[in-house]
Amino acid sequence: MSHLMNTYSRLPVAFTRGEGVWLWDTSGKRYLDGVAGVAVNTLGHAHPKLTQALCAQAQTLIHTSNLYEIPLQEKLAAKLCNLANMDRVFFCNSGCEANEAAIKLARLYGHQKSIEVPTIVVMEKSFHGRTMATLTATGSRKVQAGFEPLLAGFVRVPFNDLEAVRQVGQHNQNIVAVLVEPVQGEGGVNIPDAAYLAGLRQICDTNDWLLMLDEVQSGIGRTGTWFAHQHTAIKPDVMTLAKGLGSGVPIGACLAAGPAAELFKPGNHGSTFGGNPLACTAALTTLETIEQDGLRENAVRIGELIVASLKQALGGMSGVVQIRGNGLMIGIELDRSCGELVKRALAQGLLINVTSDKVIRLVPPLIMNAQEAQQLVAGVVSLVQEFLVPAA
Ligand SMILES: *Cc1c(COP(=O)(O)O)cnc(C)c1O
Repeated sequence: MSHLMNTYSRLPVAFTRGEGVWLWDTSGKRYLDGVAGVAVNTLGHAHPKLTQALCAQAQTLIHTSNLYEIPLQEKLAAKLCNLANMDRVFFCNSGCEANEAAIKLARLYGHQKSIEVPTIVVMEKSFHGRTMATLTATGSRKVQAGFEPLLAGFVRVPFNDLEAVRQVGQHNQNIVAVLVEPVQGEGGVNIPDAAYLAGLRQICDTNDWLLMLDEVQSGIGRTGTWFAHQHTAIKPDVMTLAKGLGSGVPIGACLAAGPAAELFKPGNHGSTFGGNPLACTAALTTLETIEQDGLRENAVRIGELIVASLKQALGGMSGVVQIRGNGLMIGIELDRSCGELVKRALAQGLLINVTSDKVIRLVPPLIMNAQEAQQLVAGVVSLVQEFLVPAA
């Protein structure tokens, strides 16, 4: 019997080492990694620059405490603010914690305006984490079921529907913020209309609400810009990061600009581990390597290659609803449940993910080259073809 709590139905495989986009299991079998630890391993596995930086930092100093100044945290905050055009950062250890910080900022913002029940607009099919506040914000009954009572102070509207947000604003005087993923990840790689974020920005400006973007999955170069919202000429008030930021070392961040950046005062919020020297080194090295090795450009090029190749092979096929992508955030939506494809892929030495029941999600490391991408495509294409047209 396992002594682990039964929170995951795990695939029957354990990996012992990795290199680039490849992983090896306990029997020595090799796998092509199209998942990257769910959009986490930005630099792939055992990237020499990251390994070296982490070893050097571990030999120097791993953790001190936020009771003291942490120069690496200052350096990382300055770097992130420069890339995102934001003012201040709070560091934590995961995506849900980053969103908790954002939700607390929104509530402080509301109380400052004498709104006693500050309420945040959230989206259908969204995912923001598994803590009580973030599972309440999440648009999935599966994530919430059994954990009632949920938190007060959230209203939900359909994703990619500006009119619905406007309507809520007209009927609810307690709204203080909108929390949204620029590209929905867990919800099925849902890409909104090009004008959606700018529309939300405008509604937020008109009503004096905070625009809070959850870039936990879409950020850190994955869509070809540093942050997915930068495909549009808008700036959020709050933005959250985690997954790809440390390339596998746990670190999360909540960035804020303008008045939202000045809301927290000593004692309002904190984290024991948040932004320790080891985690900050991982993030600084990840950002530096993305820059030096042109990984945002690579994400665009390889993402376009994968989507074009998938469309060529599977587009128009009966059972394939849509193939969509933004950089290396790619979804293949089928007309039926396809969770079993993950196991079939595994048998063939391929790591893929299925989310939202019917969407094959590919979020490979940003270092993937064209040849590896073609291998990934070939594997996925044959799996989908066999799945949709079973041999008689
Ligand atoms: C994964 C994810 C989270 C939660 O991150 P954790 O590190 O698992 O807490 C939040 N928001 C989005 C968009 C995510 O993809």
